[in-house]
Amino acid sequence: MSVIINDTCINCGACIDECPVEAIVDEDDNPEDEDIYFVYADKCVECVGHHDEPACATACPTEGCITWSSIGESPEHRDDITQEQRDNLANVVE
Ligand code: SF4
Ligand code: SF4
Repeated sequence: MSVIINDTCINCGACIDECPVEAIVDEDDNPEDEDIYFVYADKCVECVGHHDEPACATACPTEGCITWSSIGESPEHRDDITQEQRDNLANVVE
């Protein structure tokens, strides 16, 4: 993962069209069969080269819903995010 959507997601849909690489799917397509939106780690680029910060998190109305996560399979990631922030699943937008 690189950013991750947690179970506070209210399925509002505000994030999905903001993603420049179509890494987000809705609850119907969640591969983990959870009733929330989902970010594909192998597609998410943390908006590097597209926006100053992850656009999904900027658009999300639910505080703390989208957090940093381990880099994993992400093809690109933000170098200024610390391992501690990732380990602690820190909020993308404070
Ligand atoms: S951080 Fe950017 S690339 Fe990753 S899921 Fe959110 S909008 Fe898409
Ligand atoms: S914007 Fe936030 S609350 Fe709305 S669907 Fe996306 S992750 Fe869920």
